[in-house]
Amino acid sequence: MMKTFAEDAEFLQDELVSWRRHIHQNPEVGMDTHNTAAFIKAKLEEMGYETKYVAGTGVTAIAGGKKSGKCFLIRGDIDALPVTEEADVEFKSTNGAMHACGHDFHAAMLLGAAKLLKAYEDEIPGQIKFMFQPAEENLKGAKAMVEDGILENPKVDAAAMFHVMTGTPLPTGTIVIPNPGPSTAASDWFDIVIKGKGGHGAMPHKSVDPLNVISHLHLALQELNSREIAPDDIVALTIGMMKGGTTSNVIPDTAEMHGTLRTYDKETRVYLNERIPQIAKSVAQTFRAEAEVTMIEGTATVTNDATVTEPLYESLKEVFGNVVRSDQRGGGSEDFAYVSDKVPAVMMIISAGNSMDGYTLPVHHPKVVFDENVLSVGAAGYAVAALSWLSKNQ
Ligand SMILES: [Zn+2]
Ligand SMILES: [Zn+2]
Repeated sequence: MMKTFAEDAEFLQDELVSWRRHIHQNPEVGMDTHNTAAFIKAKLEEMGYETKYVAGTGVTAIAGGKKSGKCFLIRGDIDALPVTEEADVEFKSTNGAMHACGHDFHAAMLLGAAKLLKAYEDEIPGQIKFMFQPAEENLKGAKAMVEDGILENPKVDAAAMFHVMTGTPLPTGTIVIPNPGPSTAASDWFDIVIKGKGGHGAMPHKSVDPLNVISHLHLALQELNSREIAPDDIVALTIGMMKGGTTSNVIPDTAEMHGTLRTYDKETRVYLNERIPQIAKSVAQTFRAEAEVTMIEGTATVTNDATVTEPLYESLKEVFGNVVRSDQRGGGSEDFAYVSDKVPAVMMIISAGNSMDGYTLPVHHPKVVFDENVLSVGAAGYAVAALSWLSKNQ
């Protein structure tokens, strides 16, 4: 049956392209994916599925259930980025948002998997749950869907997702399965306001200069990575924005700093979330100022579980051949972490255009283009992943 999926999916290619282009041309951002969700819901219902909205603009449906067994979840995110499209394609979006991360592919591929699985529904040894998720880019959607019960009724036993990738030498359709362990970074943010005392630039002693404080703080925070984190641990602490002052001879009252923290190790994440406010407050105090610190929780690390990665690797390799392993950790984040925190899961990558064929730009670039030939492989890949795990875990 699994080999048939790969062949059947090729017949779906034109339909997959039309779904993908429709979604691409009508991008929606964050949790506001109302039309995208309605489109997906309507397509699923045309296929004969009962559907449900989850967390407002998420959509779910279930295939199988005639034979008893476990429940496997496959997830595709459906949101776009607030980026104006500059790609030279005929189905370019014009509303100021863009599917620059390829989530239009994930949505179309997961719909394709639903169509493939419907034809063999009676033979599914258990249930396959589809998770069409909004708001991946702002890391809110998976959390909202988990809180709204996507992992319950029926209870999900394991899960998988695909993300498309461009700009690497891997031929289109190559599937990358990570080695067990973490594959994306945990991501948090922080906002710091330094409160000093404004005054005349000629009389600094009568002021508390927040710009001086923020300069020391910037350097102090960089020492965390250098002096307090083990050399084999990976951390990125970036301060992407510092603001304060209006002109050269006035000391301002306040200055602000905004940064992001990426970690892989759970304990390191907790440790740095404590150290950043401590350092900000003590540096501010050293120079007679005050620091107001807000730590904002982003998302945890996506953890790939051996009980999912290994059987999926074997099955996908058997069906598609073009499957490779990787132990590379990406610096990006992925809110599928909210799923992989609760059930054994894997985050798989699929090449949607290789750099040698001209697909040189990475995702998120306003000019990025993707190779649509990946669509049928991705649709079949989702179906094979789900079915093979259920067959091996009866
Ligand atoms: Zn993205
Ligand atoms: Zn993405």
